[in-house]
Amino acid sequence: MSASRKNYDWIIAGGTVVDGSGQPGYVADVGVVGEHIVDIGDLSGEQAARRIDATGLVVAPGFIDVHTHDDASLIIRPEMRAKLSQGVTMVICGNCGISGAPYSYVGDPPGLLRLVFKSDKFIASSLQQYMAKVSAAEPAINAAFLTGHATLRMNVMGEGEQLERAATDSEIGQMRAQLIECLEQGSLGLSTGLFYQPARAAPTQEIIEIAAPLKDFNGVYTTHMRDEADQVVESLNEAFEIGRAIDAPVIVSHHKCQGPQNFGRSVETLAMFEEARKQQQVSLDVYPYTASSTVLNEAMVHNSISTLITWCEPHPEYCARELTEIVREMGCSLTEAIERLQPAGAVYFSMDEDDVRRIMCAPGCMIGSDGLPEDEHPHPRLWGTFPRVLGKYVRELKIMSLEEGVHRMTGLSARQFGIKNRGLIEAGKFADLTIFDPRTIVDSATFEQPTTPATGIAYVIVNGKMAWENGANTNNRAGKVLRRQDLNNDLNNQSFAE
Ligand SMILES: [Zn+2]
Repeated sequence: MSASRKNYDWIIAGGTVVDGSGQPGYVADVGVVGEHIVDIGDLSGEQAARRIDATGLVVAPGFIDVHTHDDASLIIRPEMRAKLSQGVTMVICGNCGISGAPYSYVGDPPGLLRLVFKSDKFIASSLQQYMAKVSAAEPAINAAFLTGHATLRMNVMGEGEQLERAATDSEIGQMRAQLIECLEQGSLGLSTGLFYQPARAAPTQEIIEIAAPLKDFNGVYTTHMRDEADQVVESLNEAFEIGRAIDAPVIVSHHKCQGPQNFGRSVETLAMFEEARKQQQVSLDVYPYTASSTVLNEAMVHNSISTLITWCEPHPEYCARELTEIVREMGCSLTEAIERLQPAGAVYFSMDEDDVRRIMCAPGCMIGSDGLPEDEHPHPRLWGTFPRVLGKYVRELKIMSLEEGVHRMTGLSARQFGIKNRGLIEAGKFADLTIFDPRTIVDSATFEQPTTPATGIAYVIVNGKMAWENGANTNNRAGKVLRRQDLNNDLNNQSFAE
């Protein structure tokens, strides 16, 4: 211990430090000054404004939710309870091709955008303006943003039938220029949702040409692939091809093999990741459930064992109800019922538990919730993902160690998204910390009661401020909007700040 005494703001004493690297946990005190972790070791003789007794608890880096649709939620409900209650201190937004910027039209957002943005209050013509809206709301957790290809397409090409064709060279040029502007303003990269109507007519080459600038900005390419069911192999090949063509890391979103006819195919798809990794950077994320959720889509209904309605604009009374029951009540065909319910969202029970476990344990696989905060009756992943991994999969099923589970939601995620100053418990990193009880942590949200907070999260610290304590938010809302340029400047590397 150095002779010069520091005035610590916090000492988190006696917990097991699981530092996010995947290395074995060890008992130590963690000292925080201002926004940063400054010491890890024996701090028993030191002074602190506040000391937390973490005996018997795990002290981990704050969890990073790499796959979210919290773009509007950060503004609408800045307390971010669904995330803080799980120990999440940072969310990456703008996934699946859907981002709140750049989008210049006014009026109710159309089509796919309604999954995340129910009003034009939550969209903006530039990322900078979008970030300003989020900052003004003072969210309780940190947020970073991807730029969505579907949003770019709708911004440049219009709506509806306009989108049912490949973009022209001139449109590609405009989308690329808008992506560059977003990257300059701090976007982490480009996301696509090639499965969805605004993007499905885009050929592979369109994505390659728009995404070409990512390399110069160290940006990533994340993708909700063209197909996650019968064509999952072809879709993975397309994702990897795009990554090689643009020389940028590929992150395959919420990897799954949908439909009973595809159960077990993760053996094949994960082998493809291993093969691709020999020549390019590829990784993936997953949520710990056998049901997916998105807009109501007939193809997805056909690939599911059962379907639950999560929101429905014309018939809100059908929320939380089984689609087959609704069809029976309506006395019409499935196709007609789906048409009458639109716009709507659904949960699809369409995956194999063994696939979910195999994917969760795969090299490079991060945890991302894909939670949909605007849904009336959301998929429980919104409130349960992280404690479910640590409670059900780590503690009960023992499919991986606690250290590995934490790594997949902290250090690994930070590394793959180029976040150098968070995601680990290390001197100099930002003090985003989650302190939990490894004996009790577990999700409580279910498909019936999807917004029940998880148990076992004792304290959550965001940027050195206590954000969650005694099962509730504190008054601190210390989250930051993080530009890609902000992800490097830790205490040991202050000069990098631009
Ligand atoms: Zn998606």
